[in-house]
Amino acid sequence: MINLCFHGIGTPPRGLPAEEAAYWVGADTFRRVLDQVVDRPDVGLTFDDGNTSDVTVALPELVDRGRVAEFFVIAGRLGNTGSLSADDVRGLHGARMGIGSHGMHHRVWRKLSPADRHEELVVARNRLEEVLHEPVSAAACPLGRYDRATLTALRRLRYARVYTSDRALARPGTWRQARFSLRAGDTADDVAVWLRHGDRYTVRAADAARTFVKGLR
Ligand SMILES: [Zn+2]
Repeated sequence: MINLCFHGIGTPPRGLPAEEAAYWVGADTFRRVLDQVVDRPDVGLTFDDGNTSDVTVALPELVDRGRVAEFFVIAGRLGNTGSLSADDVRGLHGARMGIGSHGMHHRVWRKLSPADRHEELVVARNRLEEVLHEPVSAAACPLGRYDRATLTALRRLRYARVYTSDRALARPGTWRQARFSLRAGDTADDVAVWLRHGDRYTVRAADAARTFVKGLR
């Protein structure tokens, strides 16, 4: 299967860090991509960062097409301007969407101190579980970065699935799930190529080696 990763949809709000704005796609592009995957149960849909466009744009379009998706929320931003509120997260969940953790502060999960790792992997998840009154078992690594210590900690904390941004096909049910993130310049046609030829990315030995090494550092 192939997992896609969206961030904000529409025009990024002023003041959003450039490295986040670079991943926003237009609503038209978003709708065209969704239309391509309506009959593709092998395409997983995920949304990172918990922007309000998750509920104002993505949710109605998903519901219209009878699709579910998984939303990775930044716990420390709940209720902030431009970010989902606790009610929004409950609304997504009530609409059968999955909710996972994207940590507390959207910082890279590599080389964290034990205290910071606890905040990112334990406290953030607890906060989301308090919002949902349900266990949260999936995580997405902020900025797609991780190292061996991160993966070890995530396994020890019994996360059931961990999403990366490694641009490779994913095997259904495996613990580490690679994703293709859309960037601001990507078009629906670009995504169509990934959907048709995603397997070509996995056979590129250099990419596979890079992904493997990332998990070892
Ligand atoms: Zn993110």
